[in-house]
Amino acid sequence: MTVFPLVGTILRHHQQMHLMEMLKGHGLRFASLLRQEAYIGGKWVSASNGKLFPVTNPSTRKVIANVPDMDEVDTQAAIDAAYEAFQTWQRTTAKERSLLLRKWHNLMEEHKEDLALIMTAEAGKPLVEARGEIAYGSSFLEWYSEEARRIYGEVAQSPTNSKEMIFLRQPIGVTSMITPWNFPNAMITRKAAAALAAGCTCIIKPAEDTPLSGLAAVDLAEKAGFPPGVLNVVTASRKNTPAVGKLLCTSSKVAGISFTGSTAVGRHLYELCAHGIKRIGLELGGNAPFIVFNSANIKSAVEGLMVAKFRNTGQACISANRILVQEEIYDEFLEALKESVSKNLIVGDGFDKGVNQGPLINDSQLRKVENIVNESVAAGAKVVLGGKCLKKGSLFFEPTILSEVTEDMSCFQEEVFGPVISLKRFTTEEEALKIANSTDQGLASYFYSQDVSQVWRVARRLETGMVGINESLISAAEGAFGGVKQSGIGREGSKHGIDDFTYLKYLCIGVN
Ligand code: ADP
Repeated sequence: MTVFPLVGTILRHHQQMHLMEMLKGHGLRFASLLRQEAYIGGKWVSASNGKLFPVTNPSTRKVIANVPDMDEVDTQAAIDAAYEAFQTWQRTTAKERSLLLRKWHNLMEEHKEDLALIMTAEAGKPLVEARGEIAYGSSFLEWYSEEARRIYGEVAQSPTNSKEMIFLRQPIGVTSMITPWNFPNAMITRKAAAALAAGCTCIIKPAEDTPLSGLAAVDLAEKAGFPPGVLNVVTASRKNTPAVGKLLCTSSKVAGISFTGSTAVGRHLYELCAHGIKRIGLELGGNAPFIVFNSANIKSAVEGLMVAKFRNTGQACISANRILVQEEIYDEFLEALKESVSKNLIVGDGFDKGVNQGPLINDSQLRKVENIVNESVAAGAKVVLGGKCLKKGSLFFEPTILSEVTEDMSCFQEEVFGPVISLKRFTTEEEALKIANSTDQGLASYFYSQDVSQVWRVARRLETGMVGINESLISAAEGAFGGVKQSGIGREGSKHGIDDFTYLKYLCIGVN
């Protein structure tokens, strides 16, 4: 053995101890949840190539852990394990699957504080929000433990008396799941719970920035008693991810893929899936309009925007991105918003008391937000508040308000994915709708109005999969989450979340 691998091992051990001690200082109870191996076929494993990649705390930029940097070899092993497990898992009863999901949910509730601490350490998410995400993530396990038993087929009216026509709803098979860093627990449970309820097995590829939350969640799934191979986790660095993703989309043993992330990667995976005609569910980027009409309750519109924009420091695909305010109330709204942003937002390390705005996840996101703000200001936007990185070299960006924005500016054209509010004035309802719909994205939209006719008119005409009306917190296990246009295909959550993981089998029975 050369001296270098030894140095590496000591360093990794040191980093692991540091993370454990740090989290214990914040109240971590079960250090066993700090998994740093992948999970394939019911075993916690290293990468077959022996490689690791680092996980960083974006608040401190310190490396806190190292996880396996897997490639196609391990991915194939996970696919094989999931394929084998499917042969028996698909024949379990809905009640058995429901009970396992319920046990997983209960364990997640029991360990919610530990899971939140792990999330804050790797995602920088303020602890209060990390707790919220664990509750949200766990609610999918509860919801789909209930839905599992309500996956019904149909009996159709046959055109003749000599046949019966029946539609069975069956699990599609092995499903690949590629998930993002912004909701590192909930984006896994939202997919996996529906797939497992339907009788599918899964291979999860968590985002490279936040693998620890997924591994901790799956540790609890193992404890809940899911059989080996039913759930697998393959971790991979940014470098190895394209090869892993390709196999997850093209293997003949994989029936479908469910992806949440950027539109660019979603498009690429869609292309990869085309060859094998795979089932695909895509939750992609948004560019949500947030419209405040003259009749709106301004106080509640401001409160709504604070949530729709600053939740997860603006790093959500349903974040309000293009704020349209009707002329008559524009000045009053801007004043109230300015006061709220200055008073209510505290930026800092997610573990610090009172903090509700964390860092951006990594340098590339920071650069993106900086560029969008700089380009928009150069094009004439006015900085009302913030506008720059909080401290040179850190990943913290000031909560920002840009006013006098025009449609052609980057802050309106692109999804900012950061704590930046871009305000534009409009005159008529028609104009607001035209601007709102003038994008290829169609995930969420929001509007505030007290005029009931306007509520119906606007709700019907917005070209998005979800509309928040006088309400900005729209995510829930019971809700049908998903987009139209280039924001995605399919729905997650609600009873419809099962659809991506099942197919109808038509039985035609001759009865004479
Ligand atoms: P973001 O821009 O929010 O980081 P991405 O779409 O890049 O979103 O990432 C979402 C998920 O997609 C992550 O798990 C990431 O590793 C994965 N991913 C990125 N590029 C690829 C690719 N070429 N093939 C498969 N997965 C990918």
